[in-house]
Amino acid sequence: MHKLQTKIIVALASVMLMLTLVITLASLASFRDFSIRAATEHTRTAAEVIRVALTEAMLTGTIHQRDSLLERIASIHGLDEARVIRGAQVDLQYGEGLASENVADAIDLAVLSNGEPVFTLVGGFFSPEFRATIPYIASSQGDVNCLACHSVPEDTVLGAVTLTASIEHMKSAAILTVAFLVLAVVIFAIISIFFLRRLLQPLVNTANEIEVAVKAAIGGDFNHRIESRSNDEIGKIASQFNALSEGITKKLSDIRENVVQLVQSKPDYQGKNLLTETAETVSGLVHVSQFKQAIEEDETAPEVFQRISDVITQEFTLHSFSIYEVNSQKKKVRPVIVDNVPDANIHWCDPAIQDHCQGCRAVRTGHLIDGSENTAICRSFSHEALAEDKHYICLPILESGRVGSVVQLVFDAEESHRVRNQRPMLEAYLREAAPVLQAKRLMNSLRESSLQDAMTGLKNRRFLEEYAETLVSQCKRRKVPMTLLMMDLDYFKPVNDTHGHDAGDQVLRELAVLLQENVRESDLVIRYGGEEFLIVLLETDAHAAMSVAEKIRMAVEKHKFKVGGTSLSKTISAGLADYPNDGQAFWQVLKFADVSLYAAKEGGRNQVIRFHKEMWSEHDEY
Ligand code: GH3
Ligand code: MG
Ligand code: MG
Repeated sequence: MHKLQTKIIVALASVMLMLTLVITLASLASFRDFSIRAATEHTRTAAEVIRVALTEAMLTGTIHQRDSLLERIASIHGLDEARVIRGAQVDLQYGEGLASENVADAIDLAVLSNGEPVFTLVGGFFSPEFRATIPYIASSQGDVNCLACHSVPEDTVLGAVTLTASIEHMKSAAILTVAFLVLAVVIFAIISIFFLRRLLQPLVNTANEIEVAVKAAIGGDFNHRIESRSNDEIGKIASQFNALSEGITKKLSDIRENVVQLVQSKPDYQGKNLLTETAETVSGLVHVSQFKQAIEEDETAPEVFQRISDVITQEFTLHSFSIYEVNSQKKKVRPVIVDNVPDANIHWCDPAIQDHCQGCRAVRTGHLIDGSENTAICRSFSHEALAEDKHYICLPILESGRVGSVVQLVFDAEESHRVRNQRPMLEAYLREAAPVLQAKRLMNSLRESSLQDAMTGLKNRRFLEEYAETLVSQCKRRKVPMTLLMMDLDYFKPVNDTHGHDAGDQVLRELAVLLQENVRESDLVIRYGGEEFLIVLLETDAHAAMSVAEKIRMAVEKHKFKVGGTSLSKTISAGLADYPNDGQAFWQVLKFADVSLYAAKEGGRNQVIRFHKEMWSEHDEY
């Protein structure tokens, strides 16, 4: 309902009603007044007529017929009653009068005693009557001298006449007049309301359109325009509103275009509040940029993966997911974080992909895999999860065109709409993460290569320098010993001299493999110098290490090094010392191992010597 119109019409109707009421009351009051005045005059005249008639009857001697005279007068139209009462003086002079001439009520009595006429309304609202009781006062003046017959003093009240007249016809006339007035006011009101409505209609229509347009705008739809119907203030409001909507639409579409470019996907705004959706997307992008800054300042790739994991759980409120790291050289896939737990076991995919990265469809194709449309698209998705009606989306993170890692989202079927809507924003995060991850990985491999000996693939002396402290603290914490085994090939120089430097290199490479084969994976084999190797045997004291060293020595002795077309036999010498029995500092123990190696060489080579205190005097220097 048009509230404005209703209000104005109700106000107008109220004014009309008040007006009708005032006019009615005023009319009734004036009618009453007028009726009383008119009736007063009429009854005075009638009283005078009766007086004249009675006087005449007295003079002509027909006073005994006064009853019928009064009856005839009472039958005059408009008069209900004509009654005469006699004053006490008259009775005194002429004897008692007729029964009808006795005092009938208090008004009669009052008029006889004080000589004042009484005019009053009687009979109530439904049969109103006017009553006049007018005294006859003795006077010697005038047309007839009363005192000629009445032996009373001047101004004596001789009697009174009471006349009663119906004023019913006056009431009807008043009601009719008021009815006409009310009718006139109602007709006037109807005509006024009709014109007012016509006048208000454009205003009301514009107001309604503004209401609809503002409602739509609150809902993010700024496409409503308001028809401008007039040139007045309302028309101006309409055109200014239109200009405002157009301005907002233009700015909003500019912002949206920029957002689309940044998110690289057209967001689905259907049935949504454009303004709040755009604001949310922009604030999402601000988060992306904060994320970018944070990961750039992170030190390692695992930290970056942890941040991605936090984004998935906090921003996208998904708690089932995997982040895989791909090692394309080894063709392996490693779960970095699963369900926000670092270094957890593979959960949402067939474990076989770990050793066969091509089993992962996202790795193989480099494309986004949307398992919410077709859950069977990747055969490596967990069968148990499929049975639970889980859906998945796998997003590859490309590093220089190759899949470096994969983010896999797992969710319930009913969540798939939400996840697919949020996907572009997650992709925006991953686009920022990709170059950072690549840089971290590159840095890592550079760091690793600087700690690695290129020829043999073993760790180098720099690695030992970086790692020595960690080794010692590990031993201290776990209260276990470690043994350093220093080894040097016997008479290696002649290999170079006889077979050439390349052959020498080949011997060193074969030896590196041989050494690694004869120790545990956890032990460290380090190319310490040219043809000098250091082996760190963890959780091993010198006694146990002796047999390992002996095993290595024999393995080398037996090994046929392939050099050119021929094969070659070599021997190796070794010296060993352990931490913490032989020395309390890493570099001290290393020196003692070296001293023992020297002793082995001195002692004729192809042997293993364990350090003992006599080999070292306080005067010697490290
Ligand atoms: P011994 O140790 O038994 O006393 O005799 P040796 O002949 O092995 O003597 P030494 O340890 O002093 O000789 C080291 C030689 O190893 C010197 C150098 O020519 C050779 N060498 C060091 N590094 C390399 C390398 O990377 N490649 C090759 N081909 N030879 C190397
Ligand atoms: Mg040597
Ligand atoms: Mg040497």
